[in-house]
Amino acid sequence: FKIPVIDNEPMRSYAPDTADRKGLEAALAKMQSELPFEVPAVINGKPVKSGDLQPQPMPHDHANNLCTYHASTPETVQAAIDGALAAKSAWEDMPWADRAAIFLKAADLVTGKYRFELMAATMLGQGKNAWQAEIDAAAELGDFFRFSVKYVEELYQQQPPRNSPGVWNRTEFRPLEGFVLAVTPFNFTAIGGNLVGAPAIVGNVCVWKPSPMGTYSSYLVHKILLEAGLPPSVVQFVPGSPPEIVKQCIDHRAFAGLHFTGSTQVFRSLWKQIANNLDIYKGYPRIVGETGGKNFHLYHPTADTSSGVIQAIRAAFEYSGQKCSALSRIYVPRSLWEGSFRDTLAAESNKVTVGPCTSFEYFTGPVIGKPAFDRIKSVIAQAKAEGGEILAGGECDDSKGYFIKPTVIVTKDPKSVTMVQEIFGPVLTVYVYEDADFEATCELIDTTTEYGLTGSIFANDRAALKVAAHKLRNAAGNFYINDKCTGAVVGQQPFGGARASGTNDKSGSMSIFYRFTSARSIKENF
Ligand code: GLU
Repeated sequence: FKIPVIDNEPMRSYAPDTADRKGLEAALAKMQSELPFEVPAVINGKPVKSGDLQPQPMPHDHANNLCTYHASTPETVQAAIDGALAAKSAWEDMPWADRAAIFLKAADLVTGKYRFELMAATMLGQGKNAWQAEIDAAAELGDFFRFSVKYVEELYQQQPPRNSPGVWNRTEFRPLEGFVLAVTPFNFTAIGGNLVGAPAIVGNVCVWKPSPMGTYSSYLVHKILLEAGLPPSVVQFVPGSPPEIVKQCIDHRAFAGLHFTGSTQVFRSLWKQIANNLDIYKGYPRIVGETGGKNFHLYHPTADTSSGVIQAIRAAFEYSGQKCSALSRIYVPRSLWEGSFRDTLAAESNKVTVGPCTSFEYFTGPVIGKPAFDRIKSVIAQAKAEGGEILAGGECDDSKGYFIKPTVIVTKDPKSVTMVQEIFGPVLTVYVYEDADFEATCELIDTTTEYGLTGSIFANDRAALKVAAHKLRNAAGNFYINDKCTGAVVGQQPFGGARASGTNDKSGSMSIFYRFTSARSIKENF
């Protein structure tokens, strides 16, 4: 069989009065009239209700919950692992065409039948506006499933280069021996789907521990996978308190892989737990993680100010900076800064509107929850105390939702707190460098943080682009030239970073499938 031609899901406009706008508004209204939903764990395709109900409040309206979910007990987690392992052999033996069909169908359900419902869940539960929800829960999730089919097809078609007369050499890409644990973040519904989808499509069974702040949309994605025909025990859905569930999985002899997106600190601690358990495992678990970032834009004196500022605003403030890729530090030469950069940046930042994500009026919405709100607020206060100038924003209001005005800080200290620490919120810090120090500024960027996720150079001078690309070669796994540092597209810019930002296994590309398969070389004599 041949798989269909795979392409990226086209984006829609949601302009007033369009059918898409009406469809999304209807889905939002329906969801708002029905909430709070009750979400069970789902083990072997069946709901499991522990009775220990935990809330997922809506970040734009924290007095109300999108759902309450039944936190998984140790018995539930045990049942999830047992059920997954029991289903493993039938799943890995299922012909590739059938596995491919399940994921192609899941993609069609995501971008078709469930498009507006998934978007509405992502808007209400994770605080995205319509267009950010579209990029994530409709387009990227559909792309992840479809491109996975394409890459796995290419993987299976590969042959070792040489056969000799009377010998047929071949390579088989087996799934891992055991189960994969997927620990997934709140900020992208699509990432949750991909962290289980990528291991599962190559024949692995998975236990899925969703972020408590993204439980409802993750539950819907799980439901879609089942509706698409995924055998019920292949992906087990275990919402609940992260450390206990994760520890129980990692302490299991059949633990074979971790697919993680979240904080650097948590990832490091899981890696250490895994290391301590090496003696109990059957094999060496595969560890794949995408973690933090402290992403930069570097402007050269030849950069275009107006487009450079717009790209900075989008990269720093879309989804209130809650992307691992979000921009949080910019380096601007004095000539541009004192030209029009400063005034344009202040004016454009002040135009950015913040409000409930259910309205189509606002550029961005709330931050995800109280701990995030308090942390970001205190970082802004600390930056002020350190002598940073607030060029725009700075106001925080959590009376109804967790709203923080997009904030621009100008610092004279390139190692000040907001230049170094990951913030994961709408805070952008500017450092102005002397024009003659362009190369030294590349070195400064490279050495200021422990991260290496995304970064951009803006210049109209080829030699400068070359210098930056070379000097910053380890500072960003996704490097952009004259473009913002967010918005990697599946199948176009494989995403991931190195250093403290992750294992750089590149979601949305072929590389990830090598990590979740274990190759067997077979030589046959005729
Ligand atoms: N892939 C997304 C981007 O390029 C970011 C994903 C993340 O936040 O982990 O903007």
